[in-house]
Order: sequence, then structure tokens, then C-alpha cells
Amino acid sequence: MKILLILLDGVGDRPSKVLNGLTPLQAARIPFLNGLAREGANGLMDPVSPGIPVGSDTGHLAILGYDPYKYYPGRGPFEALGAGIRLKPGDVAFRCNFATVSGDTKVVDRRAGRISSQEAAQLVEALSEVKEVDGVEVILKHTVEHRSVLVLRGEVSDKITDVDPHKDNLDFVWPKPTDETREAKWTAEALTKLLRRYREILEAHPVNIKRREAGLPTANMLLPRGAGMMPSLPPLSVRFGVKGAVIAGAALYKGVCSSAGMDVVEAPGATGTLNTDLNSKFKTAFETLRNYDFVFLHIKGTDTAAHDKDPLTKASFLEKIDAWFTKNFNPPGAEFIICVTGDHTTSSLSGEHRGDPVPVLIWGYGVRIDPVDRFNEVDAARGALGRIKGTDLMNILMDLANKTEKFGE
Ligand code: ZN
Ligand code: ZN
Repeated sequence: MKILLILLDGVGDRPSKVLNGLTPLQAARIPFLNGLAREGANGLMDPVSPGIPVGSDTGHLAILGYDPYKYYPGRGPFEALGAGIRLKPGDVAFRCNFATVSGDTKVVDRRAGRISSQEAAQLVEALSEVKEVDGVEVILKHTVEHRSVLVLRGEVSDKITDVDPHKDNLDFVWPKPTDETREAKWTAEALTKLLRRYREILEAHPVNIKRREAGLPTANMLLPRGAGMMPSLPPLSVRFGVKGAVIAGAALYKGVCSSAGMDVVEAPGATGTLNTDLNSKFKTAFETLRNYDFVFLHIKGTDTAAHDKDPLTKASFLEKIDAWFTKNFNPPGAEFIICVTGDHTTSSLSGEHRGDPVPVLIWGYGVRIDPVDRFNEVDAARGALGRIKGTDLMNILMDLANKTEKFGE
């Protein structure tokens, strides 16, 4: 049995005026997806719980079957995954800001005058020369503007305080352990040493010398926060005995899936944006299905358009996806299942993630066929799957593939 899970990020939406009171899914011409809905089982899915808006990180954990209340390690580790750092169990990751500090510890601007990505990247490059402190391996990676991620690898703990005071004109406090363990004490000491070393490098860096001369706030301190340790997720191969792969443009999704023991398959031209090469991603997915039982295909553009409050672009992007399948779909054998769903609703009205459920459809071998004949948030509510939780989805798919174990005798 082969399973393809197509995850349309932020696919759920709310009705818009420009779409005559319809959601992008209702308004789009998507004959292929509607055909799957007609020949399959449909329902609504709350990624975590009704009315709880989730991030892509917690949403994906849930949909892969990991209760985010148990497994979510905080933003630091997911930011690191998103930056393309392959975290190992036990690594401690932080989100960091470049900041302007006067005197010893007074944070006058925790975004260093919104320093440009280009300048910040040069600073991170200089700081990256420090690869180790007190036997702890150090990885620092720039993300955007004043932001970066820091990973400490070794005998470290995430039980340490934020250095970032979270507000301007407050003093930062050097990291302190928040429990009694040896590792927490060591981590706080090593991080303090590291940050002092960073400060010296930053004060003397040409980027900051230039900024000082131009009267701009200097980025003379790095402020970590949100320490978190990547949990070891029980892999899919152990939970269900299946071999899984992920195809995605953005690093976050590759990171989450690889933490779940799935292989990352690269599709050329996959960018994680509206301009991604859909043809390449879909072709790669079907090729990958030859060697894997379960392929997770992540498409980001739906979420991006909704964040831009652009329901028309969201609808036309859905039409582009549908058009590819209409033209090229060729199921890889009789025992094949496709599931199409999203990780959360992204409202084109507010441009934000919201807590409305998302539609889910399952089509293929052994799937009960219900009367629903369109794939969208409203029609799906009449489907045979009813209303499920994100953490139910993998069980349902794996059960269709006869990969689940009986509970009881
Ligand atoms: Zn998302
Ligand atoms: Zn989003």
C-alpha cells in the first residue's frame, strides 16, 4: 500500500467579499480535487482543538501523530529546523536577536536599529568562527534581519533563563540555570562565556564601526531566548513499520519530518513560495512513492497568499495545483491512497492563522465513499470522516494501509 499525503499549508480559510462570500477553496475551479472528494471520504480536522489557532510547527507535529502538548519543545528548536540546522536529540536551540547595548547590560534597542539582513549575516559569519566553548559545540545561523538561531551541542540543558529582556531600556541578565542539574549550571556558564566572546568580536567588527560612524545603533550584543531541546520523536518506522519520505521547499517541514525518522527527498526548484516548481514537486513525489510507503508532500503557497490577505491568489494557486493533477495524475498501482488536507486555517481576512477546522479528504483503496462531492471547508462537514483531530490522521491513514495494531484481544 502506498500513501501520498498532500499538505496544503494554511488551506482552510474564511469567506471573502472579493470571492462573493466564498472561501478560496469554494471559489477555485478544482475539478480534480472535487473528483477525489466525490470518490472518497471527507471530513473536518481540528489540528489541535476546535478554536485553537496553531503554528505550522505544532500543526505539523499533530498531523504526524505527535501530541504537541507533549512533544513541542518551544520555538528555539523549530526556528533552528527552519534555518536548516539538522538538530540531534539533546541539542539546545535558542532564538537570538542582535541588539544595541550601552554600558555593560543596558539594552537600548533589542533589534539593533532593525539592522539589515546583509549586515547581520556578516556579523554572524564573524561570530561563527567560535565553534566551541568549554567543550560545548556551537552552531550559529543567521535567519532574517536582526534574527538568528544558536544551537549548543554537548552535555547541555535547556533549563536556563532568557538573556533577552523582551523590552527596550531594560538590563539583560546573564543566563542562569533554572534547575539544580550540573548540565544547567554548565550551560549557563558556557553561554555566558560565549556571549562575552561574541560581544568582543561584535564591538570590533567593521560593520559596527561603520554603523557607529554613521550614527546608527550598533549590533554589539546577541540576546538568546526560548531555549528548547529537540525531543526524540518515536519514528514512523517504529510506530507503523512504514518507510516515509518528505518533499518540501522550506527547511522547517523537512526538519520536522526528518525528526520523525522520514527521509528528505529534494525536488529541484522547490522554494516554499508561490513561485515554487509544482511540476517538479509532484513528479518527485510520484517517483519517491516507488521506493517509499508514505510520502508527505508539503505545499506552502496557500498559506503565503492568505498571509498576504490575497484570497484571489490563494484560489488561483489552488487551481494551478489542480490543473497539474488533472493533466498528469496516474495512480501508482491499485493499492494507493491520497489524503489532502492542511495544517491549519490561514484567514485571508486577517492574514493570520485561525482556529477554524480544515477540510480533509481521503481517496483510494478501501476508503468508504460518502455523498460529499466538493473539497472545501463547508461541504467537508457533511462527510463520513466527521470531525477528527490532527493526531487522529496518521492512525486513520495507517489503518487503511493495515499498518496499525489491534488494541485489546
Ligand atoms: Zn502552516
Ligand atoms: Zn502561516
